Amino acid sequence: MYNMKSLKAEEFINHEEILETLEYAEKNKNNHELIDQILEKAAPKKTGRGVECAGLSHREASVLLACDDPEVIEKIYALARQIKEAFYGDRIVMFAPLYLSNYCVNQCVYCPYHLKNKEIPRKKLTQEEVKQEVIALQDMGHKRLAIEAGEDPVNNPIEYILDCIKTIYSIKHKNGAIRRVNVNIAATTVENYKKLHDAGIGTYILFQETYHKESYEKLHPAGPKHDYAYHTEAMDRAMEGGIDDVGLGVLFGLDMYKYEFAGILMHAEHLEAVHGVGPHTISVPRVKKASDIDPNVFDNSIDDDTFAKIIACIRIAVPYTGMIISTRENETCREKVMGLGISQISGGSRTSVGGYAGYTPEERPHDTEQFDVSDQRSLDEVVKWLMDLGYIPSFCTACYREGRTGDRFMALCKVGQIQNCCHPNALMTLQEYLTDYASPETRKVGEALIAREIQNVPDEKRRQRAIDYLEEIKNEGKRDFRF
Ligand code: SAM
Repeated sequence: MYNMKSLKAEEFINHEEILETLEYAEKNKNNHELIDQILEKAAPKKTGRGVECAGLSHREASVLLACDDPEVIEKIYALARQIKEAFYGDRIVMFAPLYLSNYCVNQCVYCPYHLKNKEIPRKKLTQEEVKQEVIALQDMGHKRLAIEAGEDPVNNPIEYILDCIKTIYSIKHKNGAIRRVNVNIAATTVENYKKLHDAGIGTYILFQETYHKESYEKLHPAGPKHDYAYHTEAMDRAMEGGIDDVGLGVLFGLDMYKYEFAGILMHAEHLEAVHGVGPHTISVPRVKKASDIDPNVFDNSIDDDTFAKIIACIRIAVPYTGMIISTRENETCREKVMGLGISQISGGSRTSVGGYAGYTPEERPHDTEQFDVSDQRSLDEVVKWLMDLGYIPSFCTACYREGRTGDRFMALCKVGQIQNCCHPNALMTLQEYLTDYASPETRKVGEALIAREIQNVPDEKRRQRAIDYLEEIKNEGKRDFRF
């Protein structure tokens, strides 16, 4: 039976509830009166505390996703853009993945790291190699990483992951620093989540892959990841272990997208109902070609228009949740979905173990790669591209370092302090990037943007302080200012 507050996977992600939701959505997809009510409910409203959004239930959002009337889709896009603008402005947060090890005991049929893949060389970074990778990433300008590893209790035990986190945070090369390490590793125990929390991680990310239990079990035929309940309940254990910021995701292409959409929103509702805070981020990866993996064998792939609609509907349903898109997607697709709700993107990514150090921007090692990267541009090119499109690339990591995690981050959104806080933080970290790492062309475009945008900090005192800090970054070599 469906119970969003239950701690049992099959009760909070309830199959019958999803089927009923899909039926309800299909029945109402041309019910314009209902659709208008749903859009009205989700629209940003001015309150005494600033601008607030109510979000939508999985049922309401599923009705929007089911619509195929072009006029309604335009309305959905317009609302998604409006919500994005209200809470995220033009800022896009930058990050890069760091692959630590591709040893894995699971048999995920879509992943090249699966145990039976004999074509892929297995590699695990030593602490010295982690250091070299981090220096290479710092030299690109990155401040925020997502570490990735296969599941292997012998080769990649939690102690190894903790050692790597410690190494990453300890490296200060020139003006570089990694200020936030997000962690994407397999589902684990409360005790291990506590250790990750104590190591100072940012977000704990774990993709559900698919919410459809039967498909899940077929797609993960053996290994610890086969256990649907253990995997689906991982975020509850992470929160019990003290991690406030968790990142959900579905690997689109594996099962029916409408099912996954209802599932991920139910997961978000569950976290909110049980822990008082929804997911910090939602990722939207699509299956890609990789060693021993042909994406065409998964017959639920979605086209770019459907992908954009999913992103817009997620933006409307969970307005306070960041949304991430990786370099699995190409430039054109990334451009299209950024306006509809994406708030974080990766840049200059390598998805192989040891893919950064010792390679020029043009060289790309493929041997240990997890999947084909579609957007192969350097970080500098991505930063310039974003600015040319009118976005503000942000290297900000202030929130969790100021203790604004979980619901405290949402509170910042709700009191309308974003423009006085996130906006100057984005500009100051962009200035650091421009001063330390950018090409002359990117620097020129960026400094003009900062001069323009700093005027949009509403609070006069805050604005003046930010202007002073920007000067200190540029002229006095100072770093790491934040509000
Ligand atoms: N091993 C960890 C786990 O099982 O959750 C997490 C790390 S794994 C490197 C990160 C994610 O990559 C997986 O959760 C999966 O969604 C995604 N992935 C795996 N194979 C992929 C493929 N062929 N194309 C695109 N993404 C893929």
